Amino acid sequence: MATAQSYVTPLGAVSAFIGHDHGLFIDGDWRAAASPERINVFDPATGEPITTVANASADDVDQAVRAAHRAFESGVWTAIAPAERERLLLRFADLVEANAEELAQIETLNQGKSINISRFVDVGGAPAYMRYVAGLTTKITGETFDVSIGAIPGARFTASTRREPIGVVGAIAPWNFPMMIGLWKIMPALAAGCTVVLKPSEVTPLTSLRLASLAKEAGLPAGVLNVITGDGKAGKALVDHPLVAKITFTGSTATGKAIARSASDRLLRTSLELGGKNPAIFLADAPIEQAVQGAILGGFFNNGQVCAASSRLYVARAIYDPFVKALAEAVDGMTMGPGLDTAAQINPVVSAQHRAKILEHVTRARQDGAEIVAGGESPERAGFYVRPTVVVGAASHLAISRQEVFGPLVTVAPFDDEDEAIRLANDTEMGLTASLWTNDLKKTMDLVPRIKAGTVWVNCHNLIDPNMPFGGYKESGIGRDFGIHSLDGYSEVKSVCIAH
Ligand code: NDP
Repeated sequence: MATAQSYVTPLGAVSAFIGHDHGLFIDGDWRAAASPERINVFDPATGEPITTVANASADDVDQAVRAAHRAFESGVWTAIAPAERERLLLRFADLVEANAEELAQIETLNQGKSINISRFVDVGGAPAYMRYVAGLTTKITGETFDVSIGAIPGARFTASTRREPIGVVGAIAPWNFPMMIGLWKIMPALAAGCTVVLKPSEVTPLTSLRLASLAKEAGLPAGVLNVITGDGKAGKALVDHPLVAKITFTGSTATGKAIARSASDRLLRTSLELGGKNPAIFLADAPIEQAVQGAILGGFFNNGQVCAASSRLYVARAIYDPFVKALAEAVDGMTMGPGLDTAAQINPVVSAQHRAKILEHVTRARQDGAEIVAGGESPERAGFYVRPTVVVGAASHLAISRQEVFGPLVTVAPFDDEDEAIRLANDTEMGLTASLWTNDLKKTMDLVPRIKAGTVWVNCHNLIDPNMPFGGYKESGIGRDFGIHSLDGYSEVKSVCIAH
């Protein structure tokens, strides 16, 4: 239950922003959408609408892409000195930092997540990430090399490569970390010299709109960053627009595949960061208390709405029973409340539709013979809440063991030896992340290479860093975010060969 001490009262600036008549940010200014149609935006903690945003039509998307294309072709961003681009992006980071509390509160009111997460992860982590990427602006290089075969006797050739920005980038962001993942897309694109049209999820558009104002205040030239709100149709119009050179998308595997199919028609470049059904493997030597805390952080952080979440827990049979007992007790004891309550450990999920989807998974798991040992229902209260849920006895072919639930739900299963653990962990179409819990160095070194996932954590889960590449194996996606090579996805390599 929220107390006066634990409940954060929204700033006046937050209420003013939410009450604003939100338009589309195109060519450096706000404008009304072509259609008067609006999209309701909800507070997941109450289940009530708090504002509306524009629903961009294909015409609006066209305007935004043309503005980005004009800005790209004019050289106003592409042709300026990299140090100037870096300076403007650093100023953008400073403004995010200066407005951090406002952004964090908007994120929590719109997404439902804990204000602790908004403050320390989504918004708190943003300036450092933004500065890391801004710094890469001045480190873009090519190579110079001698050609390797002498094609014409006596002739001399020298070859080099240049990295050139790819063009207009369409950035399509999801609703689980709306501002953070939006920045993961726009920052490397801008640093590489591209111009951007960002479309946040229709469910969580608010912080992206606030970012647009901050980018303008930072001095980004008109048309360099455009932000349009709209539903999946606007996303599709962005993908299909002939002047868009690259799509960077984070979201479901189904939509990612649909985008890849559309993109194939014109060989549109894409980076796809898709779902996960990520395993955590607890070997017999993992201390139970540490293992349970790790399972909770990995599985229930942000109410399980994390692509990297550990939603399949595999536990050595020697510790399986005490692990399940301790996990079920800990999960049952988690306090539930609105995201603005700093004391609440579980908050609402993002939407009524998403709550229904999670509960359908639970119903089906029961029908398929699995057992729910904690949670498994929605409490009688306003808002989009789902009790944190632990499922056991789910065979690996069942939907609950294979499909991404993306909510506060984990399955737990025992294994008899490490070969079985690896087989179970890799028995998935996806491969985003995994974690291994043991203090045995030899087993760690032997097992990590056998896990098919883009990131493997040992004795931790969900730790991301701007310097650590992040992306998926198999159906979890194509491409990598983060790291010193993260701008490569926003550029083309041009070879230049000079005869002399
Ligand atoms: P989607 O993949 O449909 O949405 C992600 C983004 O894509 C949103 O901005 C969405 O817009 C947009 N979009 C939707 N349809 C299209 C399209 N045809 N072309 C281009 N863009 C499109 O995810 P959902 O919101 O439907 O969530 C469903 C499931 O996806 C979740 O339950 C979860 O399993 C997974 N998911 C994974 C995430 C991750 O981090 N990998 C993040 C979010 C969800 P709009 O929202 O306006 O429709």
